[in-house]
Amino acid sequence: MDLQHWLGRATHAIQDWADTFGPYEQHPALRVDDERLAAVFEEFTGRLTDNYPFFHPRYAGQMLKPPHPAAVVGYVTAMLINPNNHALDGGPATAAMEREAVARLATMFGYDTHLGHLTTSGTIANLEALFVARELHPGRGIAHSADAHYTHGRMCHVLGMKSHPVRTDSRGRLDLDALEEVLRTGEVGTVVVTTGTTGLGAIDAVHEVLPIAERHGVRVHVDAAYGGFFTLLAGAEGLAGLPPEPWRAVARCDSIVVDPHKHGLQPYGCGAVLFRDPEVGRFYLHDSPYTYFTSAELHLGEISLECSRAGASAAALWLTFQLLPPTPDGLGQVLAAGRRAALNWAELIDASEHLALYQPPELDIVSYFPTTGPATLTGIDAASARILTDGMTGPDPVFLSTFRADREAFAVRLPGVTADADGARILRSVLMKPESEHHVERLHARVEQLAKSR
Ligand SMILES: *Cc1c(COP(=O)(O)O)cnc(C)c1O
Repeated sequence: MDLQHWLGRATHAIQDWADTFGPYEQHPALRVDDERLAAVFEEFTGRLTDNYPFFHPRYAGQMLKPPHPAAVVGYVTAMLINPNNHALDGGPATAAMEREAVARLATMFGYDTHLGHLTTSGTIANLEALFVARELHPGRGIAHSADAHYTHGRMCHVLGMKSHPVRTDSRGRLDLDALEEVLRTGEVGTVVVTTGTTGLGAIDAVHEVLPIAERHGVRVHVDAAYGGFFTLLAGAEGLAGLPPEPWRAVARCDSIVVDPHKHGLQPYGCGAVLFRDPEVGRFYLHDSPYTYFTSAELHLGEISLECSRAGASAAALWLTFQLLPPTPDGLGQVLAAGRRAALNWAELIDASEHLALYQPPELDIVSYFPTTGPATLTGIDAASARILTDGMTGPDPVFLSTFRADREAFAVRLPGVTADADGARILRSVLMKPESEHHVERLHARVEQLAKSR
């Protein structure tokens, strides 16, 4: 799609609507001089080049990619009106779009009932889920894996709850025996499972955690901020398909967080939280006259801890979902390409003399390190750091990221590596752009060349 064309249509469409209210003069205090703007704009765009090329397949580092052009058009068009999705009268149209988009997310996860809304981020969405967890089980804490997102511990602190980090297994998943041990203390009210850890993309065994949690009268919250949309590949045929069990079990969990600004093609400012029981809306009550809650009755601001929120975010997500719906044939195809890229690259790394896999990718995140002789943590750490820097600074650049793994995590995966330090940085590539699929050979060749040149 031609972005320039559609941005032109956006300004016309909104202007046509604005014109129905009659002409008015802009206040002189707001006027800017075009020549001055041209000069400032030059400087502005120049400064923006101090960035990494997140859009390009050469960029295989962090969880960063630009939004889909449809999301940009949806966002900019609505932003020209600038509705606020805090309350219905802040923007009826975008509030309705938010409800529809959130309902699609709930359907994607298999929820029959839901109460939910968009948030500014996954962090705020998780904060809301933990807040409801606290209200339902006052005095009890939160258990989450040691590899869960760092904000869970921080938000427990904010909420005055105790957080119980639980050790992970050799694939970075919540260790079930360790979880059971923590739940037996009776101190935990909700366990957080992560379907796609931020570091390695590991998927906690939701289907095995649920019966344990049920036995102990503990709720389950799913942090699917990164991995949520991969549910579209659960049980799919072909290379990209994922084991369905953990994803099917998500529908039986109490709450879910997913970030459309990660794998939903959206610009930043778009997270989402869903609760299976709409009744939890009562905890958000401020001066609402309602006593019974269903998702259809409430103003979005009445079920949210945040006040002002961009209606444009809901507009962008709604427009995107009309074109690339959260279904296996829609958005699922975008995710499948990244997943195939990760699997193909992992195979190349596995066959390489100069690189080794840290663990097989479960989603679209590849973790690997340069082989050093002799294999020591200090050697791996230094070589990874050098490749990261050399990759970005040389000709034919490649942009990677590093991930710090501690000595215990290394020991269970790679017992042959000498633990001469507390841990080591390894290399990590998030292949979240579908374009990566056709760039994997080149990425591999370049990284291998960097690993060789020492
Ligand atoms: C990214 C992420 C978060 C935090 O979300 P933000 O949108 O960055 O605030 C939480 N949990 C997981 C698993 C994530 O990947």
